Parts: sequence; C-alpha cells; structure tokens
Amino acid sequence: MTPRIDLHTHSTASDGTLDPGELVRAAAGAGLDVVAITDHDTTAGWEPALRALPPGLRLVRGAELSCRWYGEQPPLPLHLLAYLFDPDAPELVAELARVRAARAERGERIVALLRADGIDVSWPEILAGAGGGTVGRPHIAQALIRAGLVATTTEAFGPDWLGERYRLPKEDIDVFQAVRLVRAAGGVPVFAHPRATRRGRIAPDSLIAELAAAGLAGLEADHEDHSPAERAHVHGLAAELGLLVTGSSDFHGTHKTVRLGAFTTGPEAYERIVASSSGVTEVASG
Ligand code: AMP
Ligand code: ZN
Ligand code: FE
Ligand code: FE
Repeated sequence: MTPRIDLHTHSTASDGTLDPGELVRAAAGAGLDVVAITDHDTTAGWEPALRALPPGLRLVRGAELSCRWYGEQPPLPLHLLAYLFDPDAPELVAELARVRAARAERGERIVALLRADGIDVSWPEILAGAGGGTVGRPHIAQALIRAGLVATTTEAFGPDWLGERYRLPKEDIDVFQAVRLVRAAGGVPVFAHPRATRRGRIAPDSLIAELAAAGLAGLEADHEDHSPAERAHVHGLAAELGLLVTGSSDFHGTHKTVRLGAFTTGPEAYERIVASSSGVTEVASG
C-alpha cells in the first residue's frame, strides 16, 4: 500500500492547537505513515514530538520559515518549508530567533492599533494564549473571538480585521538568504503554498526559477489554499524546473478546518527529501 505522507503541520510550538505529542498521536490516529512537524520559525516542538512518537510513524523534523522577497514593493511575504536541517546551525538559529522577536513586536503593534480603535484586546493575554510558542495572527484571532467580535478564525482573517485593516508586515528572512541557510544547515527547502492567490499576492514564476537555481528543492502543490488550476500549474512548473512536488494538510488543529492527511506527498518526493538532507535524520520509532 502507498504510504500516507503529510509534510506540513503545526503544533502549539507555533499556532496549532495540539501540543507536539498530541500532534504525532493524532497523525498516527489519522492513518499517516510519515508526518512532518513544521512550526513557524521554531524547532521547539521537535523534542516533545520525538519523545511521544507512536510505533510505526516516521517523523520528519522541519519548520516553516517566514520569508520575504525584497525584489518587489512592498516586499512579498512567502513561506519556506525546511526539512531535516541542523537545529544548531548558528546563522539559521539566529535568524529564527530574530524573526520570532519580530513577530512578537508586530503582534504588539497590531494590538495597539486595535486598542486605539477601542477594541478591548490585551497583548499579555494573547502572549499567554500562545503559551511560549511562536506567536502569530491566529493567536490574535482567538482574542477577537473571546471578545465576541468575530465568530471564527476565518472571519478574523477577513479584510475588516487581521487580513487587511489590522494587518502589519513583520521583518522576515530574505528568501534567498533562507534557502542558503537551510542548505548550509543540511536541510531541504520547499516553497509552501506558492500559488495561494486567496492569501494575497503571489510569487511570479520567474522568482521561483531563480530560487530553484539558488537551491530550492521543491514546491508544495497540493494544498487547500490552491484551486485545482493552481495545483496543476505548480505541478507543471516543478516538472519544468526539475523540482520535487509535495502535498500536505498544513494542519493547525482547531485554528483551521483542514484535517491531517487531507493532502499527501508521494513516496518518491519524500525519498528525495530524505536523500538530499544531511542536517538531522528522519526518525522512525518502534
Ligand atoms: P502570521 O504567521 O502571524 O502572519 O499568521 C499567518 C498564519 O495564519 C498562517 O499560519 C496561516 O495558516 C494562518 N491563516 C492565514 N489565513 C487564515 C485564515 N483565513 N484562516 C485561518 N488561518 C489563517
Ligand atoms: Zn500557521
Ligand atoms: Fe504557510
Ligand atoms: Fe503552515
């Protein structure tokens, strides 16, 4: 039987709602054979996920890096999945710490904007809600829900709230620098949801070609934020550029509706990721 492989999930180490142990147990429960933990800008979930790894499940340690392309004004935000990199590589560690600090600083500024408009949300309470994990807009969304201002996370990401009116940029990692640092740390960089027009502006294909030349390994094609036409386009572009293709859920627990394993990656792409990595190994338990 073809193994079920989901290479993009979030835990409470960032903006998911299951802790890393619960995440790997849920992955086994969902019938996955391989799961990657890819919290935003942190590797803090790796150890607890490893400790809780159920028999028969393979764990790919990864992260989703907040990046920006500075070739356009205003600079374009992008997400880069990074797999099996050395979590102690000093330059990468420093960049991740810097981005986490930038996220907290931006979160606090968003809360100040909301409060200036008379909206009663509290930054200390939002930080507490993040529980020490990488803080992000989903945590602010929870505060808006608690305050009875919106009913769902989706509504909180609408144009009246965090999607536009109260959306502020943060200081992300230059995407070319990120590709370089991930490769230098023995990791494998894959562009997350590259064609997700429903999230806003997207990277032009010419940028993806330049990233491929700079060391990008793959493109995430099968993702809920891509329409069928967008998925087909990403598959075609990957074939053209010799990049591997992944599909994943981008599971966030109850912060999103998508289920674990809703989209999956083929075994050949997974084997290519493992074979081209040298930072840490994938881990199988039992
Ligand atoms: P941030 O990283 O703070 O900019 O927040 C972005 C995070 O919010 C990403 O992890 C997305 O998965 C999540 N997100 C973006 N749009 C939505 C949405 N419409 N509904 C729920 N979560 C979203
Ligand atoms: Zn997220
Ligand atoms: Fe993302
Ligand atoms: Fe994600």
